[in-house]
Parts: sequence; C-alpha cells; structure tokens
Amino acid sequence: MFETMQNLTGIPWYYLAAMNQYEKNVARLAKNKPKQTGLISIQVPSYLWAGKANPYLDDMKPASIHFFSGMGKDANGDGLANRQDDLDLLYSVSLYLLKQGTTETNIREQLWQYYQHPITVDIITHIAKIFLKYNRIDLDEYTFPIPRPYSYSYRDTWGAGRGWGGRRIHEGTDIFAGYGTPVLSTCYGYVELMGWNRFGGWRIGIRDIHNNYHYFAHLAGFRKGLKQGDIVKPGERIGTVGSTGYGPPGTAGKFPPHLHYGLYKFNGRNTYSIDPYPSLKKWERQTLKKKKGNQLK
Ligand SMILES: [Zn+2]
Repeated sequence: MFETMQNLTGIPWYYLAAMNQYEKNVARLAKNKPKQTGLISIQVPSYLWAGKANPYLDDMKPASIHFFSGMGKDANGDGLANRQDDLDLLYSVSLYLLKQGTTETNIREQLWQYYQHPITVDIITHIAKIFLKYNRIDLDEYTFPIPRPYSYSYRDTWGAGRGWGGRRIHEGTDIFAGYGTPVLSTCYGYVELMGWNRFGGWRIGIRDIHNNYHYFAHLAGFRKGLKQGDIVKPGERIGTVGSTGYGPPGTAGKFPPHLHYGLYKFNGRNTYSIDPYPSLKKWERQTLKKKKGNQLK
C-alpha cells in the first residue's frame, strides 16, 4: 500500500511507512487506545482533516474541506473524503507531506507542521532511514548485547540507590564483563548519539523502529568507523566494554568495567525509562535458542 502511494503521489514509501509505524507505537502505549478501523494506524485529528475553521468536524465533502484548507481528499472515488478509509487516509497524508517537495528537509518540515514535536520528527525520519536501508518493515529482531563466548553477569538492579549509570535512580541494568568484551547492537536501529557524557562516559544511543531508545554507557571505545547517523542491525558490534565516565573525557577506572544498558520509550509527548531487565532476559534466552538451533543444523 505504501508503494502504491509512492507510485500515485511520488512520496517515498519509507516516510509513509515510518509515520504509520510511529503512530502504531504511540497507540500501543496509550491508556485509552484509539479504535483503529482500517489497516493504517495514522490518526489524523479532525481539525487537520476537515480544516481548522470548518464548523463540521466530521466533514467528508471534498469541496468544503478544500474550502476550509483541510487535508482530507477522496482517493477511492466514492465522492467522500473519509479518514476511516485507508486509501483516502494515506492519499491525503501523502499530499500533505509532499506540500513542499520530496527532499528529507521538505518532509521533515511538514512532519513538524503536523506533529509540532521535535523528537517525533526525528524518530519518524530515523525509522524511515532504517526501512530504506533494509527495504522492508518487519525489523523486529533483538539480540542480547554481549556475545555468547564472553563471560558476563547481571541482575535486576532497577531503581537501586547506587549504580554507575549517571542518574540518582539507577535507570538501567549493569552487565559486568571484562575490558574489551564486544558490545553488540540489541536492535535494528539508527545511531542517534555517540560521544562523551560526564557520567555515562563514552556512550551510544540507538533508536529502533518501535520508538525505543537503547542506551549503552561506560564503553572503552567505539567500533572503528561507526558514526552518528549509521544504521545498525541486531548483533552488530558497536563498541567494547569499559569503565569510562565520572569525570572529564577519557576518565576511566573509577568502578569495575561493565556495560550500562538503558531502555527508554517515547509515548508521543515524553521520554521515560523502563526496566530493561525483562527484555535482556528474553533476548538472552532467544539468542541461546538460536545458537542451539544452528548447532543442530
Ligand atoms: Zn548502570
């Protein structure tokens, strides 16, 4: 369907797919889940669909919607601009995003107009880049961040008073391992952040297609060549375990070497941390199972 829209309107399919994915993620976290009638998760607010000054919020007449500068269009030819109809909906959203042109800057500008939230604009753009790189949208695989042959240990330290994560309340899981142990990306994602932080030391932040932000801190170093804006896949090496942080750039050795792993969600308004321990346990089990499966083959 996203490809059909690309052929019809010229909108790159991965932007539409990313916007849809973003809204699906937000809807999943919502307390009062909006009811979704079609296959598409994008929920256009009525004032945008019908037009801000339109007295009829549920207006479906293309002529009056156009008069009030609403974005609703009829694509399936039934004479109604119906935002519950997937084709009308995607067509209207495509034309809205294309208002200024097809470049990334143009589309980001329209995403800003639509959502008025800088994090949302970034997340959608980054999901689009991940979709484009792999040319598909089912990128749901995750991996434990330490490869199997290396020894490590961790336990559930969520909210513990002390930790080396750089926050008053410990927002993450510390995985203890030796210096130089490889650190792997846990997900298909976009490298949003790389650099030094007074508490986190050398750290990397990766956004996945489910709005999650994966945070890896206290690294000894980054994989050579890895840079901000790169797209990574689960199991891809991103750096090595260290003990950096708690001082100016380069400070190390103030605590035993470990990977601080944090997981943050974005619900459309705010970013908040969740306990990554259950996810780590799950990915660890899955990775083990996969290894065993491979050995049997
Ligand atoms: Zn920590």
